[in-house]
Amino acid sequence: MIKFYRNYEPDKLALAEKLIRAFHDFEKRFPAEKDSVELFANLVLTEIGVQCRFCSSHSIVREYGSRLFRCSQCYKKGWIFTGTFFEKMRLAKLWNATIWLFERRVQFNAWQLANLCQVAYSSALVISRKIAKVIHLLQSENAELVPSAVFTTLFCKRSRETPANMHPKFEQIKIDDDFFADQMEVPDEEAIDCDDERKSLLSNLPTAEKQVFTLLSEERIHFDDIANQLLWEGGLVSATLTFLELNNLIVRHPGDYYTKIAEPKKVSRDMAARQKRINDCLNLSIVDQFFEYAISNYHGFSRKYLQFYLAKFKAIFQDGFMAPGKIFRECLRHDSFSYIQMLDYVSPDEVVF
Ligand SMILES: [Zn+2]
Repeated sequence: MIKFYRNYEPDKLALAEKLIRAFHDFEKRFPAEKDSVELFANLVLTEIGVQCRFCSSHSIVREYGSRLFRCSQCYKKGWIFTGTFFEKMRLAKLWNATIWLFERRVQFNAWQLANLCQVAYSSALVISRKIAKVIHLLQSENAELVPSAVFTTLFCKRSRETPANMHPKFEQIKIDDDFFADQMEVPDEEAIDCDDERKSLLSNLPTAEKQVFTLLSEERIHFDDIANQLLWEGGLVSATLTFLELNNLIVRHPGDYYTKIAEPKKVSRDMAARQKRINDCLNLSIVDQFFEYAISNYHGFSRKYLQFYLAKFKAIFQDGFMAPGKIFRECLRHDSFSYIQMLDYVSPDEVVF
């Protein structure tokens, strides 16, 4: 019946079958477009109420599945969704199906949704993003914030934010660079060394090695000059230089010249803390689970919409988060999201997870 799971592996097949079953149930409950319109209309009527804009009467008549109503006082017509989140909704069935699937915590992507609802991929994509944004708004204010850099490896689709001629992950790298540039202005006393290993190595150098290391700089110096300045014989100089070279403290250049390896740049406490948070997050099993979900459903995405993918993940995987009617009620608290608003959206540096 459905062509999209013909080549699926067994684990994906189970997910696809769950999706098809859920959609089948949906179609039984809402077979026609007007059945979905009726659901949305009743929601608007019960949650917000509808008023005649000519005589302010609340008494209206309308037919099943119609977006129009007639005022029973002045007999003028009005649109039931005017001024609500659903004002610009063209395909009520597509909206309703998307919400239905999210509420049942079923995994799906826009391509599958388009196939099931027999609509264009772009329509399915826009609607699922709009609903994901509503789900994102549902997330409580005290939810955990995570640097978006945690997800860099997933950013493999281009967006308007992707720098010209660069890989999509540069959307994130640009943000990291900006953060780094800000941190570079932090005064030194607030900065910390990022290379503890080098530090402890230097403080524990044997006397001879310490002498040679002190003598070297970032400017090239010849082997003979080192031996002459220290009044050492060649064998000792050579052994000492080899030790320093093996420990990555100095570099040997052609012609027997040597330079010191520059001390690594200091990083600010904020920078180090940020890196630590990123590493800690990468060790969380929930982050692993998100990676698995993202790769199996989307094969990666653009950084720009990361926040929406995290919201979808939460709806599907977090117990107790989704409940029937929750998405509808949240929708009614907002004005409709325009296409331009959705296009302008960019996930923040700290995303809700
Ligand atoms: Zn009226």
